[in-house]
Amino acid sequence: MTDNIQFPDIIYDGSAFPKSCYACGAPAEKGCLFYPFDQISMRAEIGTARCVAFSLCSDCYANEDVFDDVRERIRDIVNRIMAPARN
Ligand SMILES: [Zn+2]
Repeated sequence: MTDNIQFPDIIYDGSAFPKSCYACGAPAEKGCLFYPFDQISMRAEIGTARCVAFSLCSDCYANEDVFDDVRERIRDIVNRIMAPARN
């Protein structure tokens, strides 16, 4: 096993996690990051990466199906509001 890891330059303090659950709107208890391996689909420029912070309540966090729904909603938002990458 190798230590093949890298630390990003940005240190994130978690302050941007929404206070309400992205799935149901209840008060959130879990901070989550959507950080897809396929960064082109997130319209990230080459050499950059994009992740999305969202929050879930404990009930939604326990439901594995929620993550598929969240990923789909985030990808829809990215496709609607973010300009295509100039790669
Ligand atoms: Zn919820």
